[in-house]
Amino acid sequence: MPIPELTAQQQQQLRGYRDLLLERNTRVNLTAIRDPEEVDRRLIAESLRLLPMLDTYCANGDEAVDIGSGGGIPGVPLAIARPAIRWTLIDATAKKVAFLQDVVNALSLPNIVLYHGRVEELAHEPHMRGRYRVLTARAVSSLPALLELGLPLVRTGGTLLLPKGMDIAEELAAARQAAGMLGGSIVSSDVLPDAGTGVDTTLVVVSSEHATPGTYPRRPGMPARSPLGMPRRGGEPDQDATKSHVERT
Ligand code: SAM
Repeated sequence: MPIPELTAQQQQQLRGYRDLLLERNTRVNLTAIRDPEEVDRRLIAESLRLLPMLDTYCANGDEAVDIGSGGGIPGVPLAIARPAIRWTLIDATAKKVAFLQDVVNALSLPNIVLYHGRVEELAHEPHMRGRYRVLTARAVSSLPALLELGLPLVRTGGTLLLPKGMDIAEELAAARQAAGMLGGSIVSSDVLPDAGTGVDTTLVVVSSEHATPGTYPRRPGMPARSPLGMPRRGGEPDQDATKSHVERT
């Protein structure tokens, strides 16, 4: 699927990425999609659907981060389409990061830096905390968990761009509560205009209003297992992050 605004070189890099993804996918589980046209439509074009919002919040020379990047969605297509933005891609699975390193080498993408690790730990590293202008994450976790993982990484005034499906009312309600605890606020949650990708997407936009308290994110697994703002089995929302962090250290 040619994207008119991209140069011939960028289109070629996107095709190269698709071919590498499908080839490696025979050995490493990177995507359930096997058909090249489906990869173009459901993964690559779907990633590029974020470009108008990315361009709203991120300028040339800024830094962006894609967490839980996996096989590189949406980070690799966005880094190809916006080579003047410096991208950091993070994933917890070594084989996926090794694949991404091969993509960076094969397609010569100097604007991508890779980290293998869990965001719960990397977000406490001083050189990464509060660093990025924009954060993206697709198919990684629930909205409140994404806010807990993502808000500590972005600078005050920075933005999370979180593509989600259509049925997100419950997650969104929890995310509103979580945002208050984490120094963020939900800016919008609009269904994206039809782009012919065959995927219905709600884009949740979250802004960082002030620095996230140092207790977040909690120790690995906690943001997903016990999302902030979601009722716990006992009925009350989980608001006590301090104890979890003390256990972590
Ligand atoms: N974003 C890609 C996509 O849309 O195709 C990958 C989605 S895959 C379902 C989720 C990825 O998130 C996995 O590769 C997993 O290793 C990574 N992940 C989940 N939780 C994570 C965490 N806390 N820190 C780093 N990576 C994480």
